[in-house]
Amino acid sequence: MTNDLTSLTLTELKAGLADKKFSAVEAFRAFRKTYDDDRSAQPPLNGFVEFYADNEKLAEAADRKLAKKEGGALCGLPIAVKDNIAIAGRPAECASRVLSGFVPPYSATVTERLLAQGAVPLGRTNMDEFAMGSTCEYSSYGPARNPVDRTRVTGGSSGGSAAVVGARQAPAALGSDTGGSVRLPASFCGVYGFKPTYGALSRYGLIAYGSSLDQIGVLARSPGDVALVFSHAAGLDPRDNTSREVDAADLDPLAPETLKGLRVALPKEFTGEGIDPEVRKRLDEFKAWLEKSGAVVKEISVPLLEHAIAVYYIIATAEASSNLGRYDGVQYGPRAGAANLIDMYYETRTLGFGSEVKRRIFLGNYVLSSGYYDAYYKKAQAVRRLLMDEFARVFQEADFILSPTSPVPAFTLGEKLDNPLAMYLLDAYTTYANLLGTPAISMPAGTTAGGLPVGVQLSGPAGADARLLKVAQAWHREGAAS
Ligand code: GLN
Repeated sequence: MTNDLTSLTLTELKAGLADKKFSAVEAFRAFRKTYDDDRSAQPPLNGFVEFYADNEKLAEAADRKLAKKEGGALCGLPIAVKDNIAIAGRPAECASRVLSGFVPPYSATVTERLLAQGAVPLGRTNMDEFAMGSTCEYSSYGPARNPVDRTRVTGGSSGGSAAVVGARQAPAALGSDTGGSVRLPASFCGVYGFKPTYGALSRYGLIAYGSSLDQIGVLARSPGDVALVFSHAAGLDPRDNTSREVDAADLDPLAPETLKGLRVALPKEFTGEGIDPEVRKRLDEFKAWLEKSGAVVKEISVPLLEHAIAVYYIIATAEASSNLGRYDGVQYGPRAGAANLIDMYYETRTLGFGSEVKRRIFLGNYVLSSGYYDAYYKKAQAVRRLLMDEFARVFQEADFILSPTSPVPAFTLGEKLDNPLAMYLLDAYTTYANLLGTPAISMPAGTTAGGLPVGVQLSGPAGADARLLKVAQAWHREGAAS
């Protein structure tokens, strides 16, 4: 019995706990066993960088509450947390040597809210260092591996979160998405990955990468599970003044939306050059399902989208170079020994950061430096504004935007490691939602002939989180199975 529990969705686990079919401790142990058994696999998944076996005591406490019919909406439900989201007293290292051993003294608002509802953190998950990457290979812990094919990448940067959900080591996981880092690994690992509207989930306690783009997101095996976690963590937070009120009242449980009359736009910039034919095929099938269900899908052209990736990599690196300035050996993580203060900064950062993070810091400083500021950073901000204006128009005529999540399915480890530009192009379809601050979800939409998962993405205007999840639920219930 015990290990069958790992095949249940979070929503099913919640129902089973309420009906006393099993206990929270049994559920916790089932996921722990899947994780433990995998550690001797050749090679292991490497999705969790640390498993919190001692949190079984939280599951015990949840069982006591459940017995008294007390406890919050997530009482006893296990969840994995990305290594850049703080839980007081647990390390949060962003898979970086520069933060090795760093233990935050407080919890992120999101984890605090989930814990208050009774959720049980299973452990922290692998990621690209400081969430910079698209494959989870830039990790101080070594790469996580794709649960479908362990010779392949998970996608990134929330690769560990996608891997543990895909491999049933956790029913759901938190990730972070600055340019696609929840959605891309979700698509590579065959799970749902949701990036909410900017500000819908507080960023307080999320270790910053690109602050105007960063958003915590949720990965799970059904939209209902995503909604369950999202709805109990979302909303205004006085500690993050970019956070916002969210209409999440009717998300738990999640009902499917009727698609009749739904207006969906498909930008042709997202189906052109570079797209794998098998990905295109799955997208066409998804489109056919939408149409069969009564939606109207219209091809549009937004030429500015071609520039989204360039704009993203200028703004993200500029913000990263500023955000990462604080890691100098003084307040966080290990400090390199040196003869004087300047050398100490220098040595700490030289030893602490990996090569991709260094590349981003150089790029960010370059685009912000006098003489180049106007040509790069200022121009990128201007194009971001144009993109926002353009999409304000698009969303007058369309409810949602459709695209693949990634141009290609998961590829083999190492394949793109020596080609940063090829790596950046993986984000071609995802970064625009971060530049706009709009919600987007990656949904599993079948596999390639070789069995690799393919994801399709829907995004909507800011604040359309609930509706987006309901459309995803319609796909999950009616489309995905057909
Ligand atoms: N792959 C993108 C980057 O490396 C996005 C990462 C993310 O969303 N955190 O910046």
